[in-house]
Amino acid sequence: MREPEVGKGVPAVVRHLKARGNYVPFNTNGTLLRPKKGRGLNDAGLDEMRVSLDAAEAKAFKLVRGRDWFDRIVRNVREFAELKAQLGATNPRLSLWLTGLRETLAQLPDFIRLAKDVGVPEVHLQRLVHFDDAPIGLARPESSLFEKMRAEEAEYLKTAEAIAAELGVFFDASGAAEPEASLKRTEGYKPWSVCRRPWTLMYFTAHGRAIPCCIAPFSMRGYGAFTLGNASQESLREIWNGPGYQSFREALLSDKPPSACAGCGLRWSL
Ligand code: SF4
Repeated sequence: MREPEVGKGVPAVVRHLKARGNYVPFNTNGTLLRPKKGRGLNDAGLDEMRVSLDAAEAKAFKLVRGRDWFDRIVRNVREFAELKAQLGATNPRLSLWLTGLRETLAQLPDFIRLAKDVGVPEVHLQRLVHFDDAPIGLARPESSLFEKMRAEEAEYLKTAEAIAAELGVFFDASGAAEPEASLKRTEGYKPWSVCRRPWTLMYFTAHGRAIPCCIAPFSMRGYGAFTLGNASQESLREIWNGPGYQSFREALLSDKPPSACAGCGLRWSL
C-alpha cells in the first residue's frame, strides 16, 4: 500500500517521523523562522526546537557569527513563542543555546534575561569544539573555556544560575551537565571512553552517511575517518551491526580512540 503524501520540506520530515512514533527535535539558527514556517512545524507535531543564538546582543552576535542577524532572530523567536501561546501549544519545547566562549561568557546572565523576555523557558550552555591547527572564526583554542575558566568567568556562571532560578528559566549545559561541570575535565585516563553515543544513537548526513555524533564533523576535517555506513546502500540494522560501527566502538574503548574522538574530554567537554 502506498504511504500517504506528507508534503515538502522540514515539516514533511517531522510528520514522517512523528507518524512512526519518534521524538523529533530540531536545531536551527532561527534566521528563517517566519510565522508561516513556525506554524508548519507546529502543525507537523515537532517536539522540540533548539535555537542557537550565541549572544545576548547584536555586536557580540556579529563577532561570533559574522552576520548582522541578531535582531531578526530575536524577532522570529519572540513571534514563535507568541504563536505557541496563542495556540495554547505546549510543543515544541523551545530553548536558546549559547556556545561557551571566552569572548561571550559574560553575556550569559543577559542571555537568560533575554530568554525570559522573548518567552523561551530553557537556556543551554553549549560546548565549544575547536581545531588546534586550523581555527575557524572563534572556534580556536584561545576562545575555549574548558579547563581554563578564570575566577570572573566562574562568577558569570554563578550569576547566570541565580538569575535563571529567580526568573524560572531552566538552565543547564551540553551533556545535561551542571554548567560549571561541563567546563571541567572529566576524571579518568580515557575521557572519551565515557561517551555512549555509538551505542545509543545514530546520526545521518543529508546524503545518508552514518556518523557517530554531531561533534565528529567539527573535530576533524573530512568524513572518511568516521563514516560508519551509508543509508543509501545498507539498512539501518546492517549499518548498526556492521564492521564500521563495531570497529569504531572497539577503538573508543581502547587507549587509541578514533581520531575524531581524541579531543573529547581533553580539549573540549563531551
Ligand atoms: S567524537 Fe566525541 S562525542 Fe563523538 S563519538 Fe567520539 S567521543 Fe563521542
